[in-house]
Amino acid sequence: MLSNKVTTTQLQYKMLPKRPEFEEYTVRLNTFNEKWQVDFLKPELVARAGLWYIGEEDRVRCYFCGGGLRRWEPKDDPLKEHKRLFPTCGFLTMKLYERETDNHEGKATQTFGSEGNQKSKL
Ligand SMILES: [Zn+2]
Repeated sequence: MLSNKVTTTQLQYKMLPKRPEFEEYTVRLNTFNEKWQVDFLKPELVARAGLWYIGEEDRVRCYFCGGGLRRWEPKDDPLKEHKRLFPTCGFLTMKLYERETDNHEGKATQTFGSEGNQKSKL
């Protein structure tokens, strides 16, 4: 009984995602099917905020903190709403959403570095 409590505290401290299967942006994006009826909110924007669609109404959930969001309004920004309602979420405090943007932009620059490696092989 006591050891269970200690484990929970340690997990919260380490900030592990509750649903690691949705850690990939593309996996989250794929959860948005034809049931997603919020035409003013792009699935790409919602998925980028760490959220995946649970397949009911307009309900999404954060893969990291497990927090649920729904009843979207046209003025809502998924990332801002996520921060407002779940400010302690590790996805937000560790700024994991920035890492995804960096990856996309950094690809073009990184491909230039491979030439030097090939020469050293010969
Ligand atoms: Zn979260």
